[in-house]
This record gives sequence, C-alpha cells and structure tokens, in this order.
Amino acid sequence: TLALPPSLRSKLLATGFCTTTALVSVAPFQLAREASITLEEALAVLSLVPRTCSDHTGGPVAGSTTAWDLLMKNERGRIETGSVEVDKILGGGILSKELTEICGVPGVGKTQLSMQLAVNVQIPVKFGGVGGHAIYIDTEGSFMMERVLQITEAVIDSLRIKSPGFSAAPLTAEDFLSHMYLLRVHDPLEQLAAVNNLPTLLDQHKEVKLIVFDSITFNFRQDFENMRERTRLLASMAQKLMAVAEIYDVAIVLVNQVTHKVTSEGFRTVPALGESWSHVCTNRLMVYWMDGQRYAHLAKSPSLPVGTAPYVITEEGVRD
Ligand code: ADP
Repeated sequence: TLALPPSLRSKLLATGFCTTTALVSVAPFQLAREASITLEEALAVLSLVPRTCSDHTGGPVAGSTTAWDLLMKNERGRIETGSVEVDKILGGGILSKELTEICGVPGVGKTQLSMQLAVNVQIPVKFGGVGGHAIYIDTEGSFMMERVLQITEAVIDSLRIKSPGFSAAPLTAEDFLSHMYLLRVHDPLEQLAAVNNLPTLLDQHKEVKLIVFDSITFNFRQDFENMRERTRLLASMAQKLMAVAEIYDVAIVLVNQVTHKVTSEGFRTVPALGESWSHVCTNRLMVYWMDGQRYAHLAKSPSLPVGTAPYVITEEGVRD
C-alpha cells in the first residue's frame, strides 16, 4: 500500500491502478494521462513504487540466473486448441507468458477457438491439461453461454472416455463455468481500465492461466479519428499485457479483426490495427476459409516455423 493523498488514491483506483504491480511498468506521462493527474503527481506516485533490479526470471539480482536455470524453469504448459493438427503447428498449444493473436474475418471461428481455449485451459494437469482458470474479456458481446456449455460438456465427455480416473472424481460443467471470469467492456476507456485492473484480478484469482480478449480491436476501430492517439493507447495496452503475461505466468489470447490492404497485386487481407501493433504479439495465428475448409496459419512465432493446419468446428467445438 502506497502512502498517497486520498484524492490521488481514488483517481488511481478509478482508472484501474489498484495495486503496486499495476504501476511497475507504467511510464510517468502515461500514468498522468490515464489517471488525469499532473506529471509531477505521476512522478511522485511512481517514485514510491519499489523497482528492484531483476533478472530474466524475475529473480532479485540481475545475473543470478544461468541459461540452464531458465531452461529448467521453462516447463510451461500448453493449452490445447481441440485440434491436434492446429496444436502441432503451435508446438502443442498456446503458451503461457506469451501474447498470441488470433486474426480472421468475421464468422471464421475466432470466438469458437477462444471459448474452446477458455474451457481447455481448465483440463486438470493429471489429464494432460494445465489446470488453470480463465478470464474472458468480451468487447463485442460475442461470448455465447449456451455454446460454452456445449463445448464444456463435450470436453467432460471426452475426458470421461479418454482419461482413466476421471469418472472416480469427475468435474462438472459447473466446475468449468464457475472458473471462467467474464468481463464485458463497451468502449476504449473501459477496455483500458480492464487492462489496468488485470493485476488486481489476477491477485484475487491466482489460478488463472489464460486471459482472452475477444476482441482487442472492436473498440479501437470505432470513433477513433486521432490515429496517433490510438497508436499510443494500443502501445500502452500492449506493454501492460506483456508485463501481465510475464509476471503472472499467463497465456494471453488477443482476437484481432482483419482489414483489406491495397497492394500492387490487388487487395490483401491483413490484421487490423496497423504496423506498430503487428510487432506486439509473440505469436500470430491467422484463421481463414478456403474451398469450404477452415485453416489456421501460424504466421509469426519466436521459436516455431510458419505452418498451416486444417481444422473443423463441430457441435463439440474445435476439432480435426
Ligand atoms: P468470429 O469470432 O471469427 O467472428 P465465430 O467464432 O463466432 O466467428 O464462429 C462462427 C462459426 O462457428 C460459424 O461458421 C458457425 O457455423 C460455427 N459454429 C458455431 N456454433 C457451431 C456449432 N454448434 N456447430 C458447428 N459450427 C458452429
């Protein structure tokens, strides 16, 4: 708890800066603007936030970790997509501490894939999952309760069939659904507040292993005449999400829309939000239709080759 004047404290809380962790990665000018305080006040607040010199794993002293230590600590579980073929191109699934963007045209299956991940993340470790909870941030009103229930019941059925021991202590649909924390945001300010509030939410729900933003784009495509301001806000949001993924060891999935770009060969479909945004995500998965078949294309990854895999969406969810 920082010793702050009550008026300053309430301004920070109202903007979603509820913990010192939320303030660790914020720049003074950003804090001033987002919390509507002066730069001097922002500098005074940030001077109270403890900043230790940390090594690559968050250890207290830089240089105290070797590459071998890192490798040993690097046992990050992957969240399966429901499709073995898509998991293959992803090296097993969606990885924690990383931002994975899923882009595609409306109706191609981005929300289906996101809902599937929010269910699959909860598969217990003993049955091959990562056994975590999910936060689902819905900016478009596309989260469908009935559909999530259907996907959940299919996961429970397949665990019953595939996993010996599941029937002895089965998880119910209620177990899955009550570990999916939903947030509905309606405009860019609510979205920024939701991002700023993530450390608080994650402190309350320490089992969370996946955060889905469905979509990151919607609120930033409407009513944004000042593109420089948009770029600045997106960059600030991205920086905070990267810090959250790393500090809290969660996977972050960012659904993005696509737009058409005019090139010398005609129109090309590209992810929305522009060039600067395209550097933000660790992984980029493009989902598309071709000749009546759905495909996922890993277009960007720090450690995996580019690859494409077909998948289907059935009553049960995402499958091969
Ligand atoms: P996006 O988020 O990319 O706009 P969605 O994730 O909402 O798209 O995906 C919509 C697609 O999912 C549609 O092609 C629809 O046919 C398919 N879909 C939704 N529910 C089911 C279901 N119960 N069975 C089979 N396909 C479904």
